[in-house]
Amino acid sequence: VPERIATYGRTSRIIEKHGFAFQKRFGQNFLVDSNILEKIVAGAELQPEDDVIEIGPGIGSLTQYLAENCRQVIAIEIDNKLIPILEETLEGYGNVEIVHEDVLKVDLKRLVEERCGNRPVKVVANLPYYITTPIIMGLFESQVPLDSITVMVQKEVADRMQAKKATKEYGALSLAVQYYSDPTIVTQVPPNCFVPRPKVGSTVIRLRKRTKEQYAVADEKLLFQVIRASFNQRRKTLLNSLSHGLHIPKAALEAMILEAGLSPAIRGEALGLDAFVELSNRIAAGSY
Ligand code: SAM
Repeated sequence: VPERIATYGRTSRIIEKHGFAFQKRFGQNFLVDSNILEKIVAGAELQPEDDVIEIGPGIGSLTQYLAENCRQVIAIEIDNKLIPILEETLEGYGNVEIVHEDVLKVDLKRLVEERCGNRPVKVVANLPYYITTPIIMGLFESQVPLDSITVMVQKEVADRMQAKKATKEYGALSLAVQYYSDPTIVTQVPPNCFVPRPKVGSTVIRLRKRTKEQYAVADEKLLFQVIRASFNQRRKTLLNSLSHGLHIPKAALEAMILEAGLSPAIRGEALGLDAFVELSNRIAAGSY
């Protein structure tokens, strides 16, 4: 077995040898705990024939485990200082490709098409926390064929992703994630598993992509506008926040809310995904 990159000693030696300086603005916290890496790989349910996209390989701690457990890894890293380090630490792994790009700017659909054909990929990553939501939403909204996303995120964000209605964590992120996927917590991760230690607790969460046909949505864009408007002003009633956010006259909206079997005095946080779909379909069909 090749030496693990994710130990405190090896990581320190690599960083020292290359004179690497951690960049806060890139959300760099490297994993130094092989137990956690084994849990991530198990949680991602990797098969030997899988193609994996990794976002932010850092010095290759997780990449090494992915490479040993799947067919190929495409690892996208923004920091040019890490590219020569990765080339060295992952030298022995012929099934890893390092792509020096910003994950929010790269054409992922094309990259996946070129490297993996039309086979659904698994995304596995210890995410840079400052862009967690744009990365996850970008993946779901892209045309990239996805099997699942298994990621380390800030604990509080994982709690929001899997929150059920009528809880204080429930909001637009819960609904978006649960519309596209079925979330499962893999493991909790304390700050001492990273170098440098983050100030927040972390959670590994798996989002298994679901088939969209589960919900009959007339207008997806409108559904998400309705969801966002409902949570923009949490204290307001559904009627008030929607008529304000979507510029629909109150009388017309009230009728649609009642037809959807809801009370106009209800708040967004009391509505499940089914109710949001029902309501947005009525708004899509309505004339006002
Ligand atoms: N995977 C490594 C590990 O687990 O030790 C590093 C994880 S660290 C939390 C996040 C990584 O994402 C860093 O390597 C950082 O440079 C990279 N990163 C930050 N912003 C990025 C972006 N926009 N596109 C691609 N990589 C990015």
